Amino acid sequence: MGKIQIMDEWLSNKIAAGEVVERPSSVVKELVENAIDAGSTSIEVFLEEAGLTSIQVTDNGSGMDEEDALKSFSRHATSKISNEHDLFRIRTLGFRGEALASIASVSKVVLKTSDGQQSGVEIELDGGHVVSMKPTAFRKGTDITVSQLFFNTPARLKYLKTIQTELGHSIDYMNRLALSNPDIAFKLVHNGGTLLQTNGRGNVQQVIAAIYGVQNAKKMISFSAESQDYKIHGFATLPEVTRASKNYMSIFVNGRYVKHYLLQKAIVDAYHTYLPIERYPIVVMYIEGDPYLTDVNVHPAKLQIRLSKEQELLPLVEDAVRKAIRSAIHVPLAEKKEKPVKVPSEQMNIWKPAPTFNQTKMNEIVEKLNDSIVKEPTVEEFPINEVVSEEPEPTPIIIEEEPVPMPVEEKKEPFPQLEIVGQIHGTYIVAQMEDGFYLIDQHAAQERIKYEYFREKVGDVNPNERQSLLLPLTFHYAADEALILKENLHSLEEVGVFLEDFGQSSFVVREHPTWFPKGFEQEIIEELIEQVLKTKKTDVKKLREEAAIMMSCKKSIKANHYLTKEQMVALLDDLKKADNPFTCPHGRPVMIHFSSYEVEKMFKRVM
Ligand code: ADP
Ligand code: MG
Repeated sequence: MGKIQIMDEWLSNKIAAGEVVERPSSVVKELVENAIDAGSTSIEVFLEEAGLTSIQVTDNGSGMDEEDALKSFSRHATSKISNEHDLFRIRTLGFRGEALASIASVSKVVLKTSDGQQSGVEIELDGGHVVSMKPTAFRKGTDITVSQLFFNTPARLKYLKTIQTELGHSIDYMNRLALSNPDIAFKLVHNGGTLLQTNGRGNVQQVIAAIYGVQNAKKMISFSAESQDYKIHGFATLPEVTRASKNYMSIFVNGRYVKHYLLQKAIVDAYHTYLPIERYPIVVMYIEGDPYLTDVNVHPAKLQIRLSKEQELLPLVEDAVRKAIRSAIHVPLAEKKEKPVKVPSEQMNIWKPAPTFNQTKMNEIVEKLNDSIVKEPTVEEFPINEVVSEEPEPTPIIIEEEPVPMPVEEKKEPFPQLEIVGQIHGTYIVAQMEDGFYLIDQHAAQERIKYEYFREKVGDVNPNERQSLLLPLTFHYAADEALILKENLHSLEEVGVFLEDFGQSSFVVREHPTWFPKGFEQEIIEELIEQVLKTKKTDVKKLREEAAIMMSCKKSIKANHYLTKEQMVALLDDLKKADNPFTCPHGRPVMIHFSSYEVEKMFKRVM
């Protein structure tokens, strides 16, 4: 007998299964792709235990006759290749005609299908072997149920992470399919609860609303642009709606979801200066171009793609998104002072010996300050009734190149005995003492005071300090985000966010601590939720720290606020009581000391 043997088909299916059927979500993917290929306009997916117990996909597509239904489970059975053009599609979309065979080899499958001509057929398979086949009454379309996935390959089970992670993959995948196929009505149900439902009316905005919530969808602006080789269009959120991960930027090239670093970067660049660092917009973008420009030697199973003429496409994307955002936020920006910040050079010389001055950084800061002037509410009652100047002028600010890291455990340095001399530019307090003077950044000072106040409050949330809301706040999140939140409700409570599960990925907040900064309650709650979504698993200690920093920033007096002498005295008194009066919660200095000796050296009075 020769040494070469033809591998048993059953065995080779099981080997192929390792490739195709990595996890429940890859089964969902294969089955739903088949339903799309069959021309369905309605596709429903029902999962039990994230698909580990069962996955059912029901479609209203072409269906199969008895013969094809049986054939569909043999390897390399495909109705999708008949010419060379199809071969190109194979390379790009990954038709290999082995998904069903592979899936069947590691699970129990029940297939019901009908092509609408004859009555339907029902086939049952167990580990890839046909157990029964019988006629059944079935409308045109296909219904396939895959249960006990991996039942005969127990080793694979251990690779699967938690149910939530698995479900997250399926949700992600379905969301993207819904976005790339707005004319198909998708439904995703998990353990009886609907996680996604789109109407299939071809309206992308409605799909976006179904996935990210109506409120977010309303805050998205459309954009479109065209170049010689590419056409793009899509929707992007106003800068006020941000996310902590890049995962909310979905890019489709010729209908296929891709991950492309440079395209993501082009989008983020379009938001330059509008987004806080490490925050990202929600964007859905469709790119159309000659398939030969967009699919070069890239593995079909991977999401990466190589693009020709990148230098044409990237600026097209960046400009289109930027234009859309700019035009949408034109109104509030008009109030903003656009005139360039001029720093009188004589003035700068005075500051010379202090930490190095950096023009770019300063411009950034002045821009931020201007932003905050526009947005900041004018009444803040704690601890100073500040006077807001009529005509705020951008003020030069000195910052160090590298922020001083916050000392962890510092011996308390004695607070200097200070006599207030006055205020500069509504920003710095000048105070003198025997051997020199101090410049005190009033914003940083108040941030430090507030931070210590909030850190204490948030460190031990008192149930008696709660305030009910007349109108509960509602929050809607994507299904995968909602799952993370449900797991972290307790951590959020620890920082005063009493989130109540309201079903359908919605949450309500009916009360909050009385000490939440007034006027910022919703913002604070949203930011803390975002923080949890970003880190997924929360460390309560870290979350408290974040919360205290966030709240202290919200309520602190900004630059360009003129203070009375009494207010300055009160501020320094409060600062004196702080555990660490010398740095703000971000680690920047609160005060800079100019010793008499240094000043005399500058004037060359001493050498
Ligand atoms: P491929 O999709 O690569 O052709 P599959 O193993 O996924 O391979 O499917 C095998 C064949 O079974 C398909 O080519 C198609 O003819 C048929 N088929 C699978 N699912 C469906 C469905 N939901 N509706 C109609 N036909 C289907
Ligand atoms: Mg297939």
